[in-house]
Formats: sequence, structure tokens, C-alpha cells
Amino acid sequence: MLDIRNLKVLYGPIEAVHGISLRVEEGQCVTLLGPNGAGKSSTISAICGVAKATGDITFLGQDLLGTEIEDRVRAGISVSPEGRRIFSNLSVEANLQLGAGIRTDRDGIEADIDHWFTTFPILGERRTQSAGTLSGGEQQMLAIARALMAKPKILLLDEPSLGLAPRIVGQIFDMIEQLKSEGMTILLVEQNARQALRISDYAYLLNTGTIQAEGTTATLGQNDELMAKLTGLG
Ligand code: ATP
Repeated sequence: MLDIRNLKVLYGPIEAVHGISLRVEEGQCVTLLGPNGAGKSSTISAICGVAKATGDITFLGQDLLGTEIEDRVRAGISVSPEGRRIFSNLSVEANLQLGAGIRTDRDGIEADIDHWFTTFPILGERRTQSAGTLSGGEQQMLAIARALMAKPKILLLDEPSLGLAPRIVGQIFDMIEQLKSEGMTILLVEQNARQALRISDYAYLLNTGTIQAEGTTATLGQNDELMAKLTGLG
């Protein structure tokens, strides 16, 4: 579904990602693991069209490189960014409506908002309150729900568990697992290796802008040395 080849991500003269290749098949959850500064967020930004990149990014047979961010959302790519980036001063409901910016089916949008308020009653209770009043975990759920309001074909999740208490981290991973069981294709960036591998099919280990290891999660899980290194990260 998503096929990336020889991707380089550039910040002016600085090359943050040095020609990586990765694939995500429909219905899979694929994880990008790696320490701070490895290039995980840069890879996500390049897929969304936020960061400048070279190489090939093919999504459902369509070449995305050089296309606008909105075109990629229309093609079916949606992101829940690192740091959540919810609009704190806007209401919970307005945040969800913004996620549906490319849609015109008003009734469908309302139905989807109601779906999220039923799934996460706390969001429904606070629908008119500013999103900044939500806890960190609730904001993360809102960020994921907002990304899903675009009705994507692939969901990019950048460090959804970052800065959350262990109990809440469990809830976030349960939510991701639920989405996967419903058929959503997911590219997950995580430092929490053990939890991420538990729900993923395939993983790539990124370090200093290159892929250092990759494999099915079953194979990686059996590599004790690699797992010791990975679990030290998050
Ligand atoms: P983290 O978990 O800390 O976000 P990461 O694996 O997502 O780590 P990136 O944020 O992609 O890593 O950063 C990769 C490299 O690119 C780092 O060396 C970082 O300093 C650099 N970098 C990231 N964003 C920019 C930017 N806007 N301008 C210049 N350099 C950047």
C-alpha cells in the first residue's frame, strides 16, 4: 500500500534521513523504532509532505513526492503528530470537525463525531469545552480521533504514548489494536518497543537516519540482544 524507496529527508543542507526504504501492506501495523533524533518523525513528515524529501513515496500506486499536503490527505494519508498538536483553545468538537476538513458529507461527519463521543464518553462530556482542558491521555485520544475524521486509508501515529502514565499508555495501545482489528492500516512511530512490537506485524529500527534492522515482530522478538537494546529506549 505504502512503498518508500531511497527516502532522504532534508532540512536545508542537513540530511536527517539517508536513503531508507520501507513498506506497509494493507491491514498491517508497521512500527518505526529508534532513539531520539533517529529520523522517525522526519520520515513521517516526509510522507505527509511537510518535510522536504527525495526518493520515491508511492501510495496505492500513486507517486506522492512533490504533491501538496492536502493531496496526500485526499489520497488517504492522515497523521496524529508527535506532541498531539490539538488546538487547545478550540472545543473538543471543533477539533474533530477540523479533522474532517476535506469531507463534504455533513451527516457522515456528524455520525463519526457521535461515534467518537460514544467510544470515549469523556470527549462527549467535554464536547463544548476547550480541548486544552483535557488530560494528556484524553488529548492523545482526541488527536487520533481527529486524524481518523479524515477517513484515511493509512493512519500515521507519531509517538502516541509519549509522556503518558503507564496505565494510559496501555489504553492508547488498546485503541491502536482495536483500530487494527477493524482493518485500519497503521504506521506507528514508537520508543515503547515492547508494547509496539506486541501489536505490530513488522518493524524497522532506525538509527542516525538509516535502517539498522528490520523484520517481522516475531523474528525481532526472538533477538535477545536487539530486544535488550530496544527496550532500553522507552
Ligand atoms: P524524536 O523522537 O526526538 O522526535 P526522531 O527519531 O523522530 O526523534 P527526528 O525528529 O526525525 O528524529 O530528527 C532527525 C534529525 O533531524 C535530528 O538530528 C534532528 O536534529 C534533525 N531535525 C529534525 N527536525 C529538524 C528541523 N526542522 N531542522 C533541522 N534539523 C532537524
